[in-house]
Amino acid sequence: MSEVYILIGGNLSDRERALTFAISEISKNIGKITLTSSIFESEPWGFSSPDLFLNQVVKVQTILTPKATLKKLQEIERLYGRARHSGNYESRTIDLDILFFDDLMIHERDLHIPHPRLHMRKFTLSPLVEIAGDYVHPFIRKSMNDLAAECTDRSQVRLFKKDMAKSNVHNEL
Ligand code: ADP
Ligand code: MG
Repeated sequence: MSEVYILIGGNLSDRERALTFAISEISKNIGKITLTSSIFESEPWGFSSPDLFLNQVVKVQTILTPKATLKKLQEIERLYGRARHSGNYESRTIDLDILFFDDLMIHERDLHIPHPRLHMRKFTLSPLVEIAGDYVHPFIRKSMNDLAAECTDRSQVRLFKKDMAKSNVHNEL
C-alpha cells in the first residue's frame, strides 16, 4: 500500500463542485482518502487571470502504481470536462497533480515525482503544511513547515473553507 498526496485545483465555473467531484472520484478509483486539507483560494501562478483558484490537498492510500495513479487522475480530469488548449499555464475547471508518492523520486517524460514546483508555490505548501507539516521532501530533505517558511512566493493565498473532515471521518483509521 502506498501513500500519495494529490493537489486538486480549479479556477473556472463552480470551483467547489470540482473539488467535491475529484474527491469522490479519487475515493472510488484510486483509494481511501485518509486526510483532506482545508480549501485555499489563491491567485493564478505563472499567468494572469481574474479567476482565482481553489486548491486542496488530499492524502490517499492506494495499491496503484504512480503511472496508474496519473492515468486515473487524467481520466477524472477528462470526465469532468477539462479541455487543454495551450502548452502553458492556463485557467482550468480541474487540475489534479501528484505531489508525493511515498518517498519515490521519479523523473520520466510524463511524470515527475515529487512535483517539481511544489516547494516554490504557496498554494501547494499552505494545504501541505496543514496536513503534512512534518513530512520531509525526499529530495530537498526539508519538511513542509520549513519549505513554507523559506518560500519566497508572495502571491495571495487565503483560507477559503476550513475542512472539518480533517479531524473526524477521514482520520478514523
Ligand atoms: P500543470 O499541472 O503543470 O499546470 P497539466 O495539468 O496540463 O499542467 O499537466 C501537464 C502534464 O504534466 C501532464 O500531461 C502529465 O503527464 C505531466 N506531469 C508530470 N508530473 C506530474 C505529476 N506529478 N502530477 C501530474 N501530472 C504530471
Ligand atoms: Mg496538472
